[in-house]
Amino acid sequence: MSMKISVVGTGYLGVTHAACMAELGFEVIGVDVDPHKVRMLSEGHLPFHEPGLGELLRTHVESGRLRFTTDYEQIAEWADVHFIGVGTPQRNDGHGADMRYVDAAVIELATRIRGKALIVGKSTVPVGTARRLHGLIAATADPQADITLAWNPEFLREGYAVRDTMTPDRLVLGCEEAGSEAILRQVYARALDAGTPVIVTDFETAELVKVAANAFLATKISFINSFAEITETIGGDITVLADALGHDARIGRKFLNAGVGFGGGCLPKDIRALQARTSELGLTHTMGFLAEVDEINLRRRERVVRLSHAMLQDQLVGARVAVLGVSFKPDSDDVRDSPALDIAVRLFNAGADVLVYDPEGNKNAAERFPRLFYANDLAEAVANADLVLLLTEWAEFKALVPADLEQLVAARRLIDGRNVLSRSQWEEAGWEIVGMGQHYAP
Ligand code: NAD
Repeated sequence: MSMKISVVGTGYLGVTHAACMAELGFEVIGVDVDPHKVRMLSEGHLPFHEPGLGELLRTHVESGRLRFTTDYEQIAEWADVHFIGVGTPQRNDGHGADMRYVDAAVIELATRIRGKALIVGKSTVPVGTARRLHGLIAATADPQADITLAWNPEFLREGYAVRDTMTPDRLVLGCEEAGSEAILRQVYARALDAGTPVIVTDFETAELVKVAANAFLATKISFINSFAEITETIGGDITVLADALGHDARIGRKFLNAGVGFGGGCLPKDIRALQARTSELGLTHTMGFLAEVDEINLRRRERVVRLSHAMLQDQLVGARVAVLGVSFKPDSDDVRDSPALDIAVRLFNAGADVLVYDPEGNKNAAERFPRLFYANDLAEAVANADLVLLLTEWAEFKALVPADLEQLVAARRLIDGRNVLSRSQWEEAGWEIVGMGQHYAP
C-alpha cells in the first residue's frame, strides 16, 4: 500500500514539498492554519509565484492525490509520515528564530497520533531543536503512540523550487531512531536511485548543515560586496575581479556577483538566528563575523540611496525615480527582507516620487507598503523618470537596451544594482549608468 504523507505548513517550502510528493505517487494532505490559503490551494490556485509549481499543484489536486485542510484531526492518524515545513521567522524581540510555529505543529500532531508515525522536520531551526522536540513529543504524546522523529533540512531555492525538490544536490537525513532512515529512503527512492548523494547523520549535524550552507552563501556575497566597497572608492572592475577569482576551482564563480545584496525569507534571518543560537551556547565570538556579513549586506542598500542622491545632484525630493524589481530575487514574488523594496521605501521616505514595477512582486510589496506607487508595466514605471534603478535581475530587465527606455524617460540616468547591463552600450547611447562596485565621480 502506498505511503500516506502529510505536510504541515503550506508556504513556499510546504506546498512545493507536498506537490512533489504527490508527483512521486504518494497520497498527500497539506495542513495549514491559514484557511484562506487552504481554500485557494484546494481549488488548485497557488498563492505565490513559483515556476512550474502551479501546474503540478493543479494536476494533483485534480487527480485527488493532493488535498489541503486546516484540520489536524484529518491527518494525525491518516498519515504515515508528517513533514513539518512551518515558518521559523526572526523573533520580534531579537535575532533568534521564533520557534512557536514549529512547537505548535509538533504538539498538534503528538497529542493526536495514536498509532505509529514518523515526524520529519524540514524547517530551518536552531541547532538542538530536534533533540528538544524529541523531549516535547515524549512529554505530550499518548503513551500508546509510537512516534519517531527525524530531521531532513530543505535546501530548495525559490525560483527553482520544483527542480530542487525533485532532483536535490544532496539529501541530509538526521536519523537517530530505528526505522526512520528506511522510511525516508522509501520516500526519496527516486532521487536516491538517480544517484543523489545522501548523508545520514545525527540531529545536530543535520540541523547545522542547513544553517552552515546559508551562512557560507551569505558570507560569499558579502565578501565580494566588501571588495565592491574598495573598487567604488579607488577604482577597479568588480566583475573582472569576480571572474578572475571564480576561475579558481577552490573558490568558484557562483554567489560572487556584486550587487544590492541578499535578502528574502531565509539568508538574513538564518545568519541572525545562528549568531543568536551560538551566543546562547556561550560561544559569543564564534559567529561574530556574521554580524559583519549582515552589516556589509545592509550597507549595499545605503550605497544605492547615496548614489541616487549624488546622480540627482542632491535634488532627490520630488524627483521621479523608477524602481525595476521589488522581489528579493528574480522568478519569485517574495518580498520578505527584499533589498529592492527596502531601497524603494528609503527613497520614498527621502521625498522622491517613486514608481515601482516588478513582474510578479507588486502585489506582495503593496500589501507591505501600500503608500508606494506601483506601475502595471515597465513603460509606465519609467515614464518621465529622472533616474531608473534596476534592483532585481528579472530576465525582462536584463534584456533591456537603451532604445527601450530613451523615448520614455525624462533623463538618461540609470543605476544597475545587479551589474547585468552592458555599461559601454548604455554609455554609447548617452546614458549615465553606474553599477555596483563602480567608482562614481559626477
Ligand atoms: P512561509 O511563511 O511561506 O510558510 C509557512 C506556513 O506555515 C504558512 O503558510 C503558515 O500559515 C503555516 N503555519 C504556521 N504555523 C502553523 C501551524 N501551527 N500549523 C500549520 N501551519 C502553520 O515559510 P517558508 O518560506 O515556506 O519557510 C518555511 C520553513 O522552511 C522556514 O523554516 C524556512 O527557513 C525554511 N526554508 C524555506 C525555504 C524557501 O526558499 N522559502 C528554503 C529552505 C528552507
